[in-house]
Amino acid sequence: MEFLTDMAAKRAELTPEAVAFTDHDTGRSFTFCEVNSRASRLGNLLLDRGLGKGDRAAVLCLNHPDFFVLLFAAQKTGIQLVPLNWRQPVAELAPILEASGARVLFHDGDCAETAGDLVSDTGIRLLPLGATRDAGSALDALLRNASPAAIGCGRIRADAPWYLLFTSGTTGLPKAVIQTAGMAYANMINYSQATGLTVGEKGVNFLPLFHTAGINLPTLPIFLNGGSSTVLRKFDADRILDLIDAGEVTNFFGVPAIYQALALSPRIGKTDFSGVRSLGCGGAPVPRHLLNDFRKRGVTICNGMGMTETGPTVFLMDKAHAAEKIGSVGKPQILTDVRLADGDSGIVEGPGEGEVQFRGPNVTPGYMDNPEATAAAFTVDGWLKSGDVARRDEDGYYYIVDRIKDMYISGGENVYPAEVEKVLVGHPAVLEAVVIGVPDEKWGEVGAAFLIVRPGEELDTDSLSGWCRQQLAPYKIPKSFSVVADLPRTAAGKVRKNVVKDAFLTETTPEDARV
Ligand code: ATP
Repeated sequence: MEFLTDMAAKRAELTPEAVAFTDHDTGRSFTFCEVNSRASRLGNLLLDRGLGKGDRAAVLCLNHPDFFVLLFAAQKTGIQLVPLNWRQPVAELAPILEASGARVLFHDGDCAETAGDLVSDTGIRLLPLGATRDAGSALDALLRNASPAAIGCGRIRADAPWYLLFTSGTTGLPKAVIQTAGMAYANMINYSQATGLTVGEKGVNFLPLFHTAGINLPTLPIFLNGGSSTVLRKFDADRILDLIDAGEVTNFFGVPAIYQALALSPRIGKTDFSGVRSLGCGGAPVPRHLLNDFRKRGVTICNGMGMTETGPTVFLMDKAHAAEKIGSVGKPQILTDVRLADGDSGIVEGPGEGEVQFRGPNVTPGYMDNPEATAAAFTVDGWLKSGDVARRDEDGYYYIVDRIKDMYISGGENVYPAEVEKVLVGHPAVLEAVVIGVPDEKWGEVGAAFLIVRPGEELDTDSLSGWCRQQLAPYKIPKSFSVVADLPRTAAGKVRKNVVKDAFLTETTPEDARV
């Protein structure tokens, strides 16, 4: 399909009076008609202010229905939206904002200070969105005189960049994954097929909106199917369990750390999950005990796997086989081809193990303005390389068993050691730094840093932690720092991280003097 529909306009035509979003903090609901009309007003306002197709608008906010209004305004105008990660400090955000080329930065009240710091001396204009019970809606005020006239002809190019999600990548340099309308529709089909998502479903939106999961799992599929989402500013276990108990959630998706936190809430024992037809989990390896804990409560969690580059749904376990195939991420979804590649012998047929690679309409066309990174991400015959190793069993079910890429996941957030190492070696006392991901009960994985100190220098933890706090999001800061005399290396001098990790796990490194 070369062209798709304007999503908000189409939904407003189909189910104008149905509720699309409810803001849990203010209690205000928005029908599809209102979402579409607000998106048109916002689009017209941006056009009036000189932005147009191909220009970029960044956004820094907690979760608000207004974010989706902005997303649909971007689709109508061809402006590309760049959601920014509010967990990152200004030092991390500034180069990303600069690389994005954004001309305006939307922000809510919670992010106003960071937004102000970010744009000082840049010429980037600030625009408010979001609402609070006390202060009302900042977007209402902004849109007061904006035209509600329809924008464009309602046809959206399937492959046009719609929004950009930044990742650090294994090199530690920010790169933006292009997301298109075609990817969103493909994800809707994949996800709806996998979870049985149907007309009028109810969801709760709380995963951060700078991640594909916050936008697409399952909020956009629910929207496109004419269902409604309750929007929470951010994760709140008790509020979510209350919504589930009240029958306000029929389709739910979380990362393992979310389920861990739900399981620890005193409310969990009193929560009736019978209204939730699908509970998906992914974004990081899902501990088996978690699946079993919920199973004992009569709740089946389906493990799934995807990537920002795949829109994201590729795998999601089917409920019927979840107990029998525990640990599996299921089978590839309807629109996505999956293959296992073995570096030495080519493509793996039948049961076996290899790098999992993807092809389909849910796969990104590449990284914005970065042909080198795009070329490196795909095989010569056009398959996206995941950097993950999977096993396929005799029934065609997949299990993610290892990672080739240098990345670990802490509480659902990807951490690229290269980025953390770069900050550590910037410290005056650090000569060399190596960061690995190690298991952690609460966060899945956390960072462990191994440091060689510059001759004649002393390293103190407080100074190093403070150094990291200024430059890195909290989840990227290593939980332990070990000073070592040297590190195991290959003949070429490259640090053998697997050996470092084995030594950490077995506590066998003699010079492992903790700072
Ligand atoms: P989001 O950023 O919204 O959380 P995501 O986690 O799906 O989305 P990425 O941040 O791109 O996407 O991370 C993708 C990587 O996460 C995969 O390549 C894989 O390494 C890891 N991953 C995702 N799901 C699983 C899973 N169920 N088991 C093991 N690893 C997973």
